[in-house]
Amino acid sequence: MNTNRQRLYNSEGIVMRRWDVGESDRILALYTPERGKLRVISKGVRRPGSRLAGHVELLCHSAFLIARGRHLDIVTQAQTLHAFANLRQNLERIGWACYAAELVDRMTVEEAATEPAFRLFLAVLERLDRGAPPEILIRSFELHLLGYLGYRPQLFRCVSCEQEVQARPQFFSALLGGVLCPSCRGADPQAQSLSLEALKILRYLQRNSLSDAERLRLEPQRGRELEALLHPYIRIILEQEMNAPSFLGLLRRESARQKGKAP
Ligand SMILES: [Zn+2]
Repeated sequence: MNTNRQRLYNSEGIVMRRWDVGESDRILALYTPERGKLRVISKGVRRPGSRLAGHVELLCHSAFLIARGRHLDIVTQAQTLHAFANLRQNLERIGWACYAAELVDRMTVEEAATEPAFRLFLAVLERLDRGAPPEILIRSFELHLLGYLGYRPQLFRCVSCEQEVQARPQFFSALLGGVLCPSCRGADPQAQSLSLEALKILRYLQRNSLSDAERLRLEPQRGRELEALLHPYIRIILEQEMNAPSFLGLLRRESARQKGKAP
């Protein structure tokens, strides 16, 4: 019946996370250009001499041949495209790369292709590997990733009155998703103050590429300000994302329960 169904497919992917299962297997969370997040199983990969092992390391960018499985699809072949060997020799850079991977993993869903997000993730790993200044690179990565996933923060108009933002210190509302002008600051009591310099950097990063971002010099104090502005915003989005499926699950269970009650 199913003989014509294509059982094998090719995909490139970056290993974002992995979990050991059973005696020698590993589940991999890959980020792929055509399928978004993909969970696959790599069988026997923890056995000595496994021919897959070197190609499915954390943060590896590899070309995979995958077989459809009943529960999880199965890695049948893998070939490293980028190992990011330099990156792996520097703990700080590994830390930034793992943060980027965690952000992609947590902000994306399975079977939702976002090719630009994949290219962005790959580009940030390549640049970290090449020794680019990591902090400004990661802020640029965060802003572009947010944009590709539909969470672009509003930096040009006040999120409350929609007036064009003037060139002076403003406020930033993580909850409302962008700049609040001084007259609207009361719209979110938790809005943080936003210096003119930080506003300029955020706008520049949002409008320019990762390589443009690398040319900016970030003072430590400004770096802390940018992180303190963006992280609460990202946290709110992640909380919404995490609540959405559980809320849907609740609805489904509830609707099943209601149906069960019916005569
Ligand atoms: Zn306003």
